[in-house]
Amino acid sequence: RTRFAPCPTGYMHLGNLRTALYTYLYARRKGGRFILRIEDTDQEREVPGAIDVIYNSLKTAGLSHDEGPDVGGPVGPYIQSQRKDTYMPYAKRLIESGHAYYCFCTKERLESARAEAEAKGETFKYDKHCLRLSKEEIRARLDAGEEYVIRQNIPSEGKAGFDDVIYGHVEVDCDTLDDNVLIKADGLPTYNFANVIDDHLMGITHVMRGNEYLSSAPKYTLLYRALGWEPPAYVHLTPVMVEGTQKNKKTGEYLMAADENGNPVLDENGNPVKAIVKRKMSKSQGDPSFEDLLAQGYLVEAVINYLVLLGWSPRGEREFYTLKELEEVFDLEGLSKSPSFFDMQKLNWFNAEYVRRLSPEKYLEIASPWMARALDPAKFDFRRLAELLQGRTEVFSQLPGMIRFLAELPDYSPELFVNRKQKSTPESAKAALEAAIPLLEGIGEWTEAGLHDRVMEAIPGLGMKNGQFLWPVRIALSGQMSTPGGAFEIAWLLGREESLKRLKQGLEKL
Ligand code: GLU
Repeated sequence: RTRFAPCPTGYMHLGNLRTALYTYLYARRKGGRFILRIEDTDQEREVPGAIDVIYNSLKTAGLSHDEGPDVGGPVGPYIQSQRKDTYMPYAKRLIESGHAYYCFCTKERLESARAEAEAKGETFKYDKHCLRLSKEEIRARLDAGEEYVIRQNIPSEGKAGFDDVIYGHVEVDCDTLDDNVLIKADGLPTYNFANVIDDHLMGITHVMRGNEYLSSAPKYTLLYRALGWEPPAYVHLTPVMVEGTQKNKKTGEYLMAADENGNPVLDENGNPVKAIVKRKMSKSQGDPSFEDLLAQGYLVEAVINYLVLLGWSPRGEREFYTLKELEEVFDLEGLSKSPSFFDMQKLNWFNAEYVRRLSPEKYLEIASPWMARALDPAKFDFRRLAELLQGRTEVFSQLPGMIRFLAELPDYSPELFVNRKQKSTPESAKAALEAAIPLLEGIGEWTEAGLHDRVMEAIPGLGMKNGQFLWPVRIALSGQMSTPGGAFEIAWLLGREESLKRLKQGLEKL
């Protein structure tokens, strides 16, 4: 029994999606069950509609859960805020056995203690002040309705540890651990408590999550022990990193590059350049979420395939896997022990490969709305365009930019007519366009084949090489060096009238 336990943040972080993917795949591989649990105990951070984003992302990704808030299951509810009453009895049990205690310390007291610790350069640790309260005093203060939290009572001596599937044996000295809050003043549990209670009550056997929880996990082991429970197997995953710019979260200012003397690094125009750092992937730093990638026209299958390999290696060299295939081969042994780097270029490459494998029909279906951003479907043959574009599509969002020249001729420099490889000079280009205009005017049947045959048959008579003729014609028709399709395809798509108009405009530039 594995679980994916996201907080409803309003988007699906790619690192989280990867965690969900591994968690799902492991359950499927082992014939187990994959559970969705919503961790919404931090009500201040609640984003409306955020749970739907989670459902939709999982559904789009194909990661179907066997139990969860929307599908039910034997150990629900699966939303932590709806389990509010579940946690208190366990907290009380811990209080009775001495593993937890009431704390009435005010915000002010805690803040000044924190400031004091920080001034000394120490990390704040709660001083167990309320642990010394007598039973009577606690009762009186509770009866008086004083606000309280419940804290874990970490032993002052000894060690706490556990075995992690990836990191091996992890152990810390108890005196380095803080007496974390288990139940907050609003009566809701903290993550530190809820994860233990829920993972146990939900019968979770394998916990996979980000390694930011690695340092807290020893505390959780103490809770399991105190409650007389067996902890699950822990698999703490290394983070998904990127190399990118870094903004100060408070000021919004970018970290700037500096040389070894601390002086700013300048670009060729004398402007300071932003530093490129290795950091965790983060939506607030501008890195894309799963939804962002889909909105940019990445294919789900490509994203999944790319993500699974970001931190997991299959046995052997194979790179392309469907989700179904992954369900059969995924294992914990292949999980990486070092951080992985998200690389947009590599994702683009995967995406292009998946685009190439689409059926022409499917490609047309996905590409059409993107093409319609640049072209009127009533005026251009999308089917033919799709055939020309499929092999050149990396990401669908690039399509409008690739075909906009058909709707409107870009303003281009006559230098484009010059091409050494094609032996195209301003003079030969001029001659080519001069010959092309009457030739195309005289073509009876305006089809690609008709254009091709008529032109190819005429070129030798003009004393030109094919490239010398076709290069300037394609430049005049498109106004750009790189186009989907060649001169004949473009001329056909544009139609006779527009093509002739563009050839004449080209000639005027020469
Ligand atoms: N709610 C936690 C998060 O989104 C999940 C951690 C866990 O899987 O235990 O980071």
